Amino acid sequence: MSSGGNGAAPRRRSIAIVGGGFGGVGAAVMLRRAGYEDVTVFEKGERVGGVWQHNTYPGAACDIPSHLYEFSFAPNSWSRRFSPGSEIRAYVEGVARRFGVLDRIRTATEVTSARWDEDGGRWRLETSAGSHEADVLVTACGQLSVPKTPPIPGLESFAGPAFHTAEWRHDVDLAGKRVAVIGTGCSGIQVVPAIQPEVARLDVYQRSPGWTFPKMDYEYSPGMRALFKRFPLLRRLDRASIYASQELGAAAMTSQRWLLPLLRAIAKRQIDSAIADPELRRKVTPSDEVGCKRIMLTDEWYPALAEANVDLVAERIDAITPSGIRDASGVERPADAIVLATGFASHDFVAPMEVAGGDGRSLAEEWGEVPRAYLGLTVPGFPNMFLLYGPNTNGGTGSVVNTIECGIGHVLAALREMEARGAGRIEVRREAAEEFDRDLRAALTKTVWHSGCSNWYVDENGNDPSQWPWLWRTYRRRTARLEPGAYELSAAPAVAEAALG
Ligand code: NAP
Repeated sequence: MSSGGNGAAPRRRSIAIVGGGFGGVGAAVMLRRAGYEDVTVFEKGERVGGVWQHNTYPGAACDIPSHLYEFSFAPNSWSRRFSPGSEIRAYVEGVARRFGVLDRIRTATEVTSARWDEDGGRWRLETSAGSHEADVLVTACGQLSVPKTPPIPGLESFAGPAFHTAEWRHDVDLAGKRVAVIGTGCSGIQVVPAIQPEVARLDVYQRSPGWTFPKMDYEYSPGMRALFKRFPLLRRLDRASIYASQELGAAAMTSQRWLLPLLRAIAKRQIDSAIADPELRRKVTPSDEVGCKRIMLTDEWYPALAEANVDLVAERIDAITPSGIRDASGVERPADAIVLATGFASHDFVAPMEVAGGDGRSLAEEWGEVPRAYLGLTVPGFPNMFLLYGPNTNGGTGSVVNTIECGIGHVLAALREMEARGAGRIEVRREAAEEFDRDLRAALTKTVWHSGCSNWYVDENGNDPSQWPWLWRTYRRRTARLEPGAYELSAAPAVAEAALG
């Protein structure tokens, strides 16, 4: 594997990237390979890895097969079909090292604000370690990086440790303890089976159940790994078949919803075959449409719930007391520790970083109630700025790593156009962004995510700043180049008369 550039002529433009997870590392590598040497990545954590650096809870693992949950330019020899979090963490760091961008990443450095200087035609960043200027700003902050603490009365009065899955307290020994887990999303269903064998009692508080599918995870034998290595075509075929199955899921949740009853039958069968107790079966069977909440992949969740030391509490939580949790029926269950598997503030995107565009207007003001961006990437009034995995680029299926790569491809297409036209400034035209947004909102209304369940995609007012309502190949096609008339290019500083586009 080559390390570093691909022989492209060195480019002088400077690029600042915020976030050192898959997005930031991928962008740094791909920009470097395109000849951009002046690339700086800011990561507020101590190490690279992003969401995989933070989520170290027991059982944390990928739920997209790893041959698609990796960069296309850096295939890896994974130990399992769905790799564990620690392996993914090591992979991201390994890619940064192998492709020579580790020294471009400033860890333990938080970007607090980014402001476009119209006169200078540059972005000015304030960080915890001083100021920085760059021609282009790429944000790679993820959608699931800010843990959400539920507003449950009494939480702060709890006497024992209470912590979020994304802020796992490795100093707290749960062995032999009475533990309460609040939340039964992707994180909850991974952590419960992982800690169940060691704890004395486990009360799992479920607000509303989600549908699951068999994960069918398995270890890759040394023979299989050797085969994948010896015949890269095999891995590519596997990747293509995973991609195709993710596309089928995307179609079922968007334009081809007639497929959903089939998926529901598979999900229902998993519950019926895994749980004998009719009461538990009733409690875990959702009433909403399959796919409305993210479908969770697991082989261990139902068997864990059926264990003697586990209780699934489907009553609403009334309050947390100093010694436990009281449900709405008045029953109080004692707990020594509480795990909050309650998800993330997923609609804030770049927050808490403050971003201000050309006229000093902040991104928060531009967005108002609903964050939105053209192809999830660019916002009118915010020149030379690209948001990786930005608004409406999440899906019910698909690999975020693939989405990120498409986004970086778009950044490269924009830079190519700027180089070709000698431009210093690129900005999406408001009409293009508004037309895209109209089409997107119309398509979203037809998707399963808006069929009336609670999920982290749609907010309490029915706004959806999260989901991509089409196939992934549509995202790939639309981001691969600049659509005619979508962007305005001009010389920098923008006040120069010479508008180029
Ligand atoms: P989540 O899907 O948002 O689930 C949060 C859970 O907490 C839900 O069960 C929710 O109930 C419950 N909850 C929230 N507030 C509550 C409250 N006040 N009282 C009681 N219950 C409350 O979050 P997540 O499980 O962390 O997963 C988020 C996303 O991260 C996933 O959809 C996935 O995209 C990603 N993820 C991926 C992996 C992976 O394997 N790659 C692993 C973990 C997470 P309701 O459903 O009723 O709202």
